[in-house]
Amino acid sequence: MDDQEFKKVIDEIGAVISAHQRFVLMSHVRPDGDAIGSVIALGFSLMAMGKTVFIINEDGVPESLEFLKGSEKVTTPPKDPLEVEVAIALDTATKPRLGDGSLHAASKAKIWLNIDHHISNPAYGDINLIDARKPATGQIIYELIKALGYPIPDETRDAVYVAVSTDTGSFQYGSTTAATYELGADLIRRGLNVGKINADTYDNHPYRRLELMRALLNTLQISDDGQLACWELLDQTRLDLNLQPDDSEGLIDMIRSVKGVRVAAFFEELHDGKIRVSMRSKDSGINVCNVATEFGGGGHALAAGIRMAGPLSEAKPKVLSALKQALASQ
Ligand code: AMP
Ligand code: MN
Ligand code: MN
Repeated sequence: MDDQEFKKVIDEIGAVISAHQRFVLMSHVRPDGDAIGSVIALGFSLMAMGKTVFIINEDGVPESLEFLKGSEKVTTPPKDPLEVEVAIALDTATKPRLGDGSLHAASKAKIWLNIDHHISNPAYGDINLIDARKPATGQIIYELIKALGYPIPDETRDAVYVAVSTDTGSFQYGSTTAATYELGADLIRRGLNVGKINADTYDNHPYRRLELMRALLNTLQISDDGQLACWELLDQTRLDLNLQPDDSEGLIDMIRSVKGVRVAAFFEELHDGKIRVSMRSKDSGINVCNVATEFGGGGHALAAGIRMAGPLSEAKPKVLSALKQALASQ
């Protein structure tokens, strides 16, 4: 999507928002900072305009993001469908990744807006604002709010910052642009407390996360050529350490950051027997989204994920072999 198309679709979305009153905002299962930040950011802007807004997430707000102002407005989906006219999916690469409960709760909506930055998004909305050039859905929401002249209450300001900061590795990844830093500067001018919000986001982990890191380090493996590193989290470790789903968020960066490593993979046994795979590439020539897509997953060229059938002993060799192939063909 180029800038012209981006502006055109924003105007279409603006027209839908103007013409309706009742909205449900949703994002992907096992939400990260961009998923929760984006729904709070747009949700509070719409509420400040007098709209009726429901904000739901299949798994609710993870403990690590409860500090965000407005996060109490994000609930798990109600049993019965909500009386809404418009459903807005944010940061969600495929419709099923919203979760069955959220899809049921939104089932009365007659218009679907799909706002995302995943290159693998198949455009499942009636209107699709999918811009893979943007480092975070939070940045797309910020640009939309600015372009349409919508209000930026404090909840929106802080949520945009956390969405963008977490999806850019604290404004570090190559996807970060001048516009991203300008967004940060604008939010600071609007009163954002940088030191506090970064401390809340990055320096406030439960002790068990460190115990998890120790357990992961015990499973660390690296290929003979040093290019592919991985580790794994067993369901038993989750039980032993009483882990929450978001405890592992970002830990893959530790193996990604090793000198010589070009691809990092994190395998996790889920309680339903499925395997969650997180993958990171440090090399623009190796597209982990393509590997994820082979197994029904998706994401971005340099950061992608899969949920696939277990057991780990079968899933892991399949994915590692696909990753080795991607490395070899490079
Ligand atoms: P993660 O490794 O979970 O941080 O995910 C990396 C990126 O891939 C994120 O942008 C996710 O939204 C996306 N992603 C993760 N798992 C999946 C999946 N099963 N299907 C599609 N996209 C995914
Ligand atoms: Mn996300
Ligand atoms: Mn995102």
